[in-house]
Amino acid sequence: MTTVEETDAQAAKAEFLARLKEFEGLHCESGVLALDPVNGPMIRHWAEAMGDTNPVYTDAEFAKTTHFGEIVAPATMLQVWIMRGLHAGQPGGDSPVQRLYDLVVEAGFGSVVATNCEQEYMRPLRLGETVEYDQLIETVSEEKTTGLGTGHFITTLVNIFVRTGEGAEERELVGTHRFRILRYTPHKRKPKQEFKPRPRRVVNRDSKPFWDGVDEEKLLIQRCTECGTLRLPFGPGCNNCASLEWDTVEAGGLGTIYSHVTMHYPKFPAFDMPYAVALIELDEGVRTLSNIVGIPHDEVRIGMRVALEFVQHDADLKLPAFRPVDQEA
Ligand code: ZN
Repeated sequence: MTTVEETDAQAAKAEFLARLKEFEGLHCESGVLALDPVNGPMIRHWAEAMGDTNPVYTDAEFAKTTHFGEIVAPATMLQVWIMRGLHAGQPGGDSPVQRLYDLVVEAGFGSVVATNCEQEYMRPLRLGETVEYDQLIETVSEEKTTGLGTGHFITTLVNIFVRTGEGAEERELVGTHRFRILRYTPHKRKPKQEFKPRPRRVVNRDSKPFWDGVDEEKLLIQRCTECGTLRLPFGPGCNNCASLEWDTVEAGGLGTIYSHVTMHYPKFPAFDMPYAVALIELDEGVRTLSNIVGIPHDEVRIGMRVALEFVQHDADLKLPAFRPVDQEA
């Protein structure tokens, strides 16, 4: 059975989709000239950043020996040449793509996520060529529901050209850049739990002796009984001699902050964000990851002396942590 309300809702959806479909094929921009010609420095920076060491992009002598006959830009740099600049913003408010976005936001699809990008390369670009591009709205999907929420996929297409003459049609298509976003309404989240337990300790056959030590407020370090090498975290064998035989020594509890980060994200409900995580070099010479307590996260410094303590987070969870001590201590 279909109720009157459902029929009305379907009609409203169909009407809305028809409005969206009117945008398909509309041009947003035409003949926009790239800010820079294809050039050696940008290619070199890009190739270095990507770790692409192919000399055809940077070495003119080598490039002469290839079938290109000269330096070419990496095909996947295509989007680099059509970047509009960091502070340039988007096409004006009266452009079709902006009107389309306004329409979907007004309809409640206020969230946005980029979903995928496809490019085609018709031929390599050479030094000194300046591309120009047109942008158009290619497709707007019907309403879809994904893991994120419900909304419409919008695909824009940028066609990239090199001029071959002065006339409007005198240009060669060298690549296409297709970009798809989802404008959506997020799923309603379940109400947050009141009790926010921290993640539990991971106890397995290797780590159990370590956690047993923590329960007795001892920080144990594993020691190879064959060669004496210390190791932390616990593991089945010695990294130095491969022996499977071991015993433990108890850490004295003093160490030095070797490195640290501040966690801002993801926002785990059980943690007071942001918080400091440090790699502590124990005076015994092994390193361990832990929280730093007793000072604000932004006062944690490399080289700080710290002392071990044990924090009882809840009935079942005790964890080691470190607190700064006087440099003299
Ligand atoms: Zn060993």
